[in-house]
Amino acid sequence: MKKGALIILSGPSGVGKGTVRIELMKHKELNLWFSVSMTTRSPRPGEQDGREYFFVTNDEFEKNLKEDNLLEHAEFVANKYGTPRSKVEEMREKGYNVILEIETKGAAQVMSKFDDSELCTIFILPPSIEELERRIRGRSTESEEVIAGRLAKARGEMDLAKNYQYSVRNVTVSQCADDIAKIILNKVNANA
Ligand code: 5GP
Repeated sequence: MKKGALIILSGPSGVGKGTVRIELMKHKELNLWFSVSMTTRSPRPGEQDGREYFFVTNDEFEKNLKEDNLLEHAEFVANKYGTPRSKVEEMREKGYNVILEIETKGAAQVMSKFDDSELCTIFILPPSIEELERRIRGRSTESEEVIAGRLAKARGEMDLAKNYQYSVRNVTVSQCADDIAKIILNKVNANA
């Protein structure tokens, strides 16, 4: 069995990574598996432990970090996020193409640890920065301070698209997911 690829999806907060990823997962031919991250942030309405994230305390997060259980980790607007290591390798060994939906600092750690041929790195761009601001505000579950932090961060993150193998603009969810599906298929076939 051929080992699966490691697919990194990054993009500024509010760009719609989660929605695009859910749409992308409908492409059964891609044999995708989503890596559920660990985070110290509180669940948003509708989020379920073990589905969007494993919601953990700061102590639990630090314990996992100390025991080297995280493939990568980063702090993002005062919360910690990390990718549990063991499951990622297990699923790749089973032939799944594993999706990491992570921010840019964590992505850089993964890029430094793996060969380019094992990776498929994709940066999702918003239609425009104005549209991104509208989306972040539209979600409005967060305080003005958190929103301002996320906006500032988003502007900085956009400059990092150049570190990724591919950039895709999210104008509509289905078009963006289709574009990413084609990229993954090409990549997986090229390595076959
Ligand atoms: P949110 O709080 O909006 O769910 O996520 C904030 C940011 O953290 C997003 O850019 C998201 O992709 C990123 N993120 C989620 N899980 C991880 C992870 O395991 N590692 C890293 N480095 N970033 C993550």
